[in-house]
Amino acid sequence: MKLFKRKTREEALGRKGVSELVRLLGKDKVLTEIEDRLCYSYDGTKQKALPDIVIRPKTTSDVSATLKVADKQRIPVYSRGAGTGLSGGAVPLHGGIIFDLKGMNKIVNICPEDFTATVEPGVVTKHLQDEVTRHGLFYPPDPSSAAFSTIGGNVAECAGGITGLKYGVTRDYILAMEIVLPDGSVINTGRKTLRSVTGYDLTRLFVGSEGTLGIFTKITVKLIPKPERVDTLAAFFGERDDAIDAADLVVENTIVPRTLEFMDHMTISAVRGFGGITLDDNVKALLLIDIDGTGENIKHDLSIVERVCKEKNALKVKVAETEKERNAIWSVRRSISPALYNIANHKINEDVCVPRSKIKELLQKVDKINEKQEVYVASFGHIGDGNIHVNIMYTDEPGQGEIAERVVQSVMEEVVTLGGTISGEHGIGNKKSQFMELEISPQELSIMKKFKDFFDPKGIMNPGKLFPST
Ligand SMILES: Cc1cc2nc3c(=O)[nH]c(=O)nc-3n(C[C@H](O)[C@H](O)[C@H](O)COP(=O)(O)OP(=O)(O)OC[C@H]3O[C@@H](n4cnc5c(N)ncnc54)[C@H](O)[C@@H]3O)c2cc1C
Repeated sequence: MKLFKRKTREEALGRKGVSELVRLLGKDKVLTEIEDRLCYSYDGTKQKALPDIVIRPKTTSDVSATLKVADKQRIPVYSRGAGTGLSGGAVPLHGGIIFDLKGMNKIVNICPEDFTATVEPGVVTKHLQDEVTRHGLFYPPDPSSAAFSTIGGNVAECAGGITGLKYGVTRDYILAMEIVLPDGSVINTGRKTLRSVTGYDLTRLFVGSEGTLGIFTKITVKLIPKPERVDTLAAFFGERDDAIDAADLVVENTIVPRTLEFMDHMTISAVRGFGGITLDDNVKALLLIDIDGTGENIKHDLSIVERVCKEKNALKVKVAETEKERNAIWSVRRSISPALYNIANHKINEDVCVPRSKIKELLQKVDKINEKQEVYVASFGHIGDGNIHVNIMYTDEPGQGEIAERVVQSVMEEVVTLGGTISGEHGIGNKKSQFMELEISPQELSIMKKFKDFFDPKGIMNPGKLFPST
């Protein structure tokens, strides 16, 4: 992999290069003004780096033609969907070209009889979810950012979400892709069939590749029949371990909820007063459970969940009777992100994942951090699959930033010791690349780098991401 030195726009592409792109693509698709470039300089991590040129492709040929120019001149290239990434994936650290893929936003087709849909990468996830619903179908991957993030970004990060325990994550729904490689050549991976085991699974290699191997220009996803309805239950606990035990017992009773979400004491104290339901002072942990299916099986499953929570000393169990009550319960979950700023004005949101049996140990580590009262860690998330969001909250006081960074390091070390992973959802980008070696062995890392060098020998695609020191 090659290391880029930051170049000015003229050095990176030259006036001739810009005119060549304008000739190839047309003026409207090539932006060079500073006010345009500023709009593409950041993502959800709030880091900033200015691209030299913005390309707004409409077709695969636009992407391919631009990459041929970039390849010839060794210009760094970055792909961007909606820019909601939380690991720095779309930030153009070395300048160069950024592709705004939101303009490639057509749903090419929905085939109800095949259970598939083929879309361009800029389609907003919720738009796809809504469109397939009209056909009685369901696209389950459901990141909290679904209303604004794109399918291309979801595939590049292998986005997860609240439905992961029952339905899996983005990876489990990607059947085939059209991909433009860094040299501008176009490949097709996978098949538009529900099964295919012919050859190596190249599609899976590209899912979660964080914009470092190629640019997806068409994506075929698998769909499943839409569950008839969804019901919601909230269980309030006075002890955190009771909530964790109840979550375990739900699954042991062979109930697989559509969502199984958890909030710890620190999170609850932040959201108290924010959502649509009252949280008494003695509530120290909360489980939010959605069950989907048909009326009869939901009734059966809910009665078991309710019994299990009571067995594990729930202070209260509330089953939503109406859509309004469902929304009130979910509004508490949705309010977490803004409410956490009640604790402190800076947040580092980590998306670690541990084996389900190790959740208590992870949270005991968090307790030790909180006991020191230097920075505070609020934990919540997808307890059903062990993906706990640990949010390190710190203030502007001198030294707080450094303490928060040290806490991140110690959480990462603990997670890996517990057999977990440093990222269950948001990817590595540049924010977590320094921790890669904690989790990935030198041999595995070297295999990954060989793939990178094979697809991107000049190292032009998303340099500075995924691997330490690129
Ligand atoms: C409020 C909020 C809630 C969130 N909730 C969740 C959640 O529940 N689960 C979760 O997993 N994430 C979540 N995220 C993180 C983020 O939304 C996801 O990572 C999402 O998949 C990013 O999509 P995007 O379109 O914004 O991609 P971007 O941020 O624009 O890009 C992300 C990465 O994808 C690459 N990329 C984009 N398009 C392509 C393409 N066509 N081809 C190749 N590479 C491409 C980029 O280069 C970059 O590396 C959340 C973020 C926010 C702000």
